[in-house]
Amino acid sequence: MTVSDKASHRIYLNGEWVTTGRELEVVNPADGRAFASVPTVDREQVQAALRAAQAAFAGWRALTAKERGALLVRVADELKRRQDEIARTITLENGKPLAQSRGEVAMAEDHLRWFAEEGRRAYGRWIPHQDPRKRNLVVKSPIGTVAAIAPWNFPLVLAVRKVAPALAAGCPVILKPASKTPLSSVALAECMEAAGIPAGVFQIVIGNAGMIAGEFLTNPICRKITFTGSTEVGQALIRGAAEAVKPLSLELGGHAPLLIFDDCDLDTAVRETIIAKFRNTGQSCIAANRIYVQKTIYDKFLARFVDAAKALKVGNGLEAGVDIGPVIGEEALAGALRQVDDAVSRGAKVCCGGRRLEHNGGFFLEPTVLDGVEEAALCMREETFAPMAPVCSFETEEEAIVRANESPFGLSAYVMTRDYGRIFRCAEKLEAGTIGVNDGAPTTSQVPFGGVKHSGWGRELGSEGLDAFLETKHVSLGGL
Ligand code: NAP
Repeated sequence: MTVSDKASHRIYLNGEWVTTGRELEVVNPADGRAFASVPTVDREQVQAALRAAQAAFAGWRALTAKERGALLVRVADELKRRQDEIARTITLENGKPLAQSRGEVAMAEDHLRWFAEEGRRAYGRWIPHQDPRKRNLVVKSPIGTVAAIAPWNFPLVLAVRKVAPALAAGCPVILKPASKTPLSSVALAECMEAAGIPAGVFQIVIGNAGMIAGEFLTNPICRKITFTGSTEVGQALIRGAAEAVKPLSLELGGHAPLLIFDDCDLDTAVRETIIAKFRNTGQSCIAANRIYVQKTIYDKFLARFVDAAKALKVGNGLEAGVDIGPVIGEEALAGALRQVDDAVSRGAKVCCGGRRLEHNGGFFLEPTVLDGVEEAALCMREETFAPMAPVCSFETEEEAIVRANESPFGLSAYVMTRDYGRIFRCAEKLEAGTIGVNDGAPTTSQVPFGGVKHSGWGRELGSEGLDAFLETKHVSLGGL
């Protein structure tokens, strides 16, 4: 079975492809039309998935990390073999330009290869004793059945960022993708099956998020929930996890500041700011949401930036040369336009865009740049998930850092400068999990990724990404 354009799909539970009699339609945001459907689960099916995962746990953890790694490499090989077709599926359900969807598949593949290796480095320690008759060991063991909840904006790679380390650590995983973009996860399950991942080790559940999460939170089989999505839902999970003391990893919202200093290389600053703002149609948790430019180069930067934004081609992501696809839905579009109107009502000037682009019934916003946006504007406080860039000026480094940190979010921040002293001062003082210096796309498999403040708990990727699925145990050996 493969994901095709107009199809009724099945979901993957305990090694079987099943239908449930209930269907969820998947809409293409480029034309607003439903093009596929997937079955949804009820609570009993979530419970059955948890039982199947528990039954699979003993066999999966008993494999060596090398054996699990070899299977993960086969999953990566499958993704690579099907890269074009899966990229097309991502573009159909999410809307992003095809080249970016291909990049997403390639990054998911890289995450799998990274954790296939990293699983072999779940090292413990031998700790010097204080009593000659004793020895102390620290060992790492898999945490148990993991529930992974993923968002729609990078439907494949953000799921794999959870699934790959959990599997590498020896944990079975149940993945709940976003209802808007379930097909990437169906394709991932196909790759898992083709690679020979045993039944029950990887499963997908789709449907009512509150009900599914409620079962994950209360069922003792589920030993960890790893979530990527909004801060609001993250807070609800924290409340729900309190009762069962259920461990959580949370990758939540962002509101990245991007600081452009007058010593920067202007070409680099314009290029990297375009990437940091407009990649994924502005629907990225690490997107630059507030662009602060030093007053001395403000006009020069703005003119270049507006020209570059105007040059971005908007359209259906399947068409050649498109840089900006549709946003995910009508509500997202209305939210972005509300932020534009609010900024304008407070004195901001629209340099380009600012309007809906009527194109074949899709949810398109023209790439938008706003000049002179005041700090009180909605877009300077609420996450913008659209191709809309508010620009404002600052005078000193100290002022820029204070304004950058005046946000409850702290996922990423960007700095454009060639001054080494400034790079270190900004890296130390900016409150964010990732700092991109002259780099608008800093994420990669081998470094930790995550947020501070309202942007989340824990880290994915790097060696930290594996640790999220391991328990640390002390073994005391006495009587020596
Ligand atoms: P969302 O509404 O929070 O949804 C994310 C996931 O949570 C979806 O699978 C959703 O399911 C599920 N969900 C909804 N209600 C739930 C509940 N009560 N309990 C448990 N799960 C629930 O977020 P989104 O709109 O998909 O994604 C955008 C947000 O994610 C932005 O804030 C963005 O910054 C953040 N994000 C963060 C990162 C990061 O790494 N920090 C990365 C990407 C995105 P349904 O789809 O079925 O409703």
